[in-house]
Amino acid sequence: MATKAYEIWDAAGRHWEPARPISELEAWCEANGFTVLGTIGNDEHLWAATPEDHTPFSATAWPVPLPGYIVCAIDIADERELGAAILRDARAGLLPWLKYCNVGQKHYHCRDGFRSWTYNSDTHNHLSIRTDYIDASIGAFNPLGDSDMFEDEDRTLLRSIAGRTLAVAQGTERTAWSGMPFGQQEPIWVVTALKQLQAAAAADATRDAGVLAAVTALADAGGVDAAPIVAAIKAEGDRTRALVTEQHQEEMAALKREWDAEVAGLRAELAARPAAAA
Ligand SMILES: [Zn+2]
Repeated sequence: MATKAYEIWDAAGRHWEPARPISELEAWCEANGFTVLGTIGNDEHLWAATPEDHTPFSATAWPVPLPGYIVCAIDIADERELGAAILRDARAGLLPWLKYCNVGQKHYHCRDGFRSWTYNSDTHNHLSIRTDYIDASIGAFNPLGDSDMFEDEDRTLLRSIAGRTLAVAQGTERTAWSGMPFGQQEPIWVVTALKQLQAAAAADATRDAGVLAAVTALADAGGVDAAPIVAAIKAEGDRTRALVTEQHQEEMAALKREWDAEVAGLRAELAARPAAAA
């Protein structure tokens, strides 16, 4: 039997709209070739004794009441292991708008950072969003995307920077640059590079061993004006390892975002550098 909420909505003309994250997820699925199975539910959903997020009058809206007839759920087919990728991003704190998701017949909730699960019969991916994110954008949502490829590219770039910086510090590349003593040649470039190395160290304690080794060697080479930065890099590395140990996923995600921004800045700076110094 339908609820009073259903009857009022039905009598009012059955208007509804998707929450912004839901419409953006739909657009993302279309752009990336994923099958959307539905947003507003069928009569079974709409007439349920406890209407949930596939209805515009969900009784389980959370954490604030719905501000209108807004649908806060979407079902997406589990193609190309999308569900696992979404869960990974959710656990990394990258999907702050996500209330809960059903992936692989398991229900995960934001309350415990999507850690524990209970059984759910959904064999597709179900995403429900938080009502305090109804007007928010999902931003750079890209769970499957090319993140791994970019990371490899960024890592290669950073290794190259570390190697070149080290070579300059060791005096083997002085003529290739301006011939001036280290610390006086393109200081902004060097400092920027070191900041990127710091960001790399902060981003992921497991992938930066080569970079940190290069930075350490740079410090050991001596005569480096950037020594305080190197010290900061080491401190950042220690802090990162502590964060990893404590599983502070949200802080790690924030660090990763900082790292992504730093690399974007570095790329822009690299693109702007004269060819001779590249
Ligand atoms: Zn669903």
